[in-house]
Amino acid sequence: MSYRIFNFNPGPAMLPLSVLKQVQEELLDYKGSGMSIMEVSHRSKWFEDVLQDAIARTKRLLGLDDRFRVLFMQGGASMQFCLVPMNLALGDKPLDYVDTGTWSTKAIKEAKIQGKKVRVVASSEDREYTYIPESIPIDEDAAFLHITSNNTIRGTQFREFPRPKKVPLISDMSSDIFSRRFDPAPFGLIYAGAQKNAGPAGVTLVIVREDMLERVPAGLPTMLKYTTYAEKNSLYNTPPSFAIYVTGLVLRWLEEEMGGLEHMEKTNREKAELIYGYLDSQDFYRGTAEPASRSWMNVTFRLPSEELEKAFLEQAQQNGLGGLKGHRSVGGCRASIYNAMPIEGVQALIEFMKDFASKNG
Ligand SMILES: *Cc1c(COP(=O)(O)O)cnc(C)c1O
Repeated sequence: MSYRIFNFNPGPAMLPLSVLKQVQEELLDYKGSGMSIMEVSHRSKWFEDVLQDAIARTKRLLGLDDRFRVLFMQGGASMQFCLVPMNLALGDKPLDYVDTGTWSTKAIKEAKIQGKKVRVVASSEDREYTYIPESIPIDEDAAFLHITSNNTIRGTQFREFPRPKKVPLISDMSSDIFSRRFDPAPFGLIYAGAQKNAGPAGVTLVIVREDMLERVPAGLPTMLKYTTYAEKNSLYNTPPSFAIYVTGLVLRWLEEEMGGLEHMEKTNREKAELIYGYLDSQDFYRGTAEPASRSWMNVTFRLPSEELEKAFLEQAQQNGLGGLKGHRSVGGCRASIYNAMPIEGVQALIEFMKDFASKNG
């Protein structure tokens, strides 16, 4: 597979090769149906099995008990920014948000647009979102506390989640779901666009605790209510069936080839330690996130000048290392090293970085 590069794109992002091959193998004739999975009814036994398998794997991988429902929706994580406050606000209670960069800021904006009582209880804006605020004030009487577990653009990540007793924690986990283990108990809702760490674009995973569904206002439009998806098992209307199928294969890969989340977490830690270890060992490249807040998924760094960054990106591409450009809002470089990125990819990147630094330093 020499024509496949190491793909460091932030999302849509690299998928496991064995998953792509399986998609290819079954593409024309899904399990003897004589049809592609893309062509079968979303109400057929074939798709029903795909859907149930993806739900069961999500629950097993994340250790979700029966209080949690797994929904497959559309509209991306960005749609969830508006659906969360629309569905889960509680009377006059404040909606608490932690602002750790672009995606949190957008979530806050969508709640404010709806005229909700929004409080930003902690923020890292003062130092350009280069860290995760250390202590998050918890008001147990708020409607919810919203965080972004991994900040894809700034390269910061919560190492420990806040531990409220009563107020439900809500997290945008778009770029680190399935990357490590965590205790789901304090979470009322978790959402993730699949295209970073879970599958292809087009489907959004929503994990919702059943008591949250009691909050959903009856007067909301049908398609905007979590209860619609929960009551109809994500089959009220046609779901993004192909994207759900591929996501299911990624979860199968995680469980059966990667040895589950415990092993995945170990590998992700090793990859992150390798690259941050290298960054800390030299002074040509400069990591932009504060060390205690560094993301294991998105590694952001700068070179001494923008000209060097441009040359770095070009030469990296020529060497089979793609997608290393930082987000357009912050510039610089970013290596997204999601689950599907093997340790060999990180090693190849470090070798290239060393070589580039020796020639340009
Ligand atoms: C990419 C990303 C989003 C936006 O996702 P869409 O699916 O494009 O709406 C939101 N939050 C985080 C943390 C992301 O990484």
